[in-house]
Amino acid sequence: CGIVGYVGAQQAAPILLEGLTRLEHRGYDSAGLALLGGTGIKVAKRAGRVRDLGDGLPKRFSGKVGVGHTRWATHGPANDVNAHPHTDAKGLVAVVHNGIIDNAAALRRRLTDQGVELASDTDTEVLAHLIAGSDADTLDGKVREALAEIEGTYGLAVLHADFPDRLVVARNGSPLIVGVGEREMFVASDLAAIVRHTTTVAHLEDGEIVTLTASGFTTARDTTVVDVDPEAYDAGEH
Ligand code: GLU
Repeated sequence: CGIVGYVGAQQAAPILLEGLTRLEHRGYDSAGLALLGGTGIKVAKRAGRVRDLGDGLPKRFSGKVGVGHTRWATHGPANDVNAHPHTDAKGLVAVVHNGIIDNAAALRRRLTDQGVELASDTDTEVLAHLIAGSDADTLDGKVREALAEIEGTYGLAVLHADFPDRLVVARNGSPLIVGVGEREMFVASDLAAIVRHTTTVAHLEDGEIVTLTASGFTTARDTTVVDVDPEAYDAGEH
């Protein structure tokens, strides 16, 4: 349903929680955060309100790279385990996802046959396992390989403990906007989530995979960065 992501010099958790609060009007049943800090990936997620997620965050829940999600359940009931972010068994990868993976049942069966234990009922979780299992050298390469197996729609944002300076995002049929700041970068499914921080944005195209670091973003396409007027901005256009 809603995605927000951050990489920069600030603590990510307050920025992500505030962004999720600004997406609440879209409706959701669960919320969660994943942060990448000195000790790897940490996840906090639960069914219910963003406010309850924020109130219940563990002490020392820190990191300057992170992703947040509000879920509108399509595959599996609204409960704590099915809330995003989803991780692989080792907790190396965390994924938030909007949309529906049509071939999730077949991929879940294949992973189970390979000995992977699935923690949730969601379609999304397969992505975390596929990305963790990829042999590609780069994080965008791993995401590209995983997405080659997927049929369906997605807006997604990925953290990987072996690539602690970045966030990789991708879209197909589900909106995603990159926000450019001063030595910090944002991503969101709706400008509302990041408008307090920047109005300089790039809209992702279907099939695009983008790497965000604190110093900028890289993508295979020639991307136009535009300054949007938040008053006139119509999220529905994109
Ligand atoms: N299909 C995913 C799930 O059920 C994502 C739903 C959403 O867009 O929030 O967990």
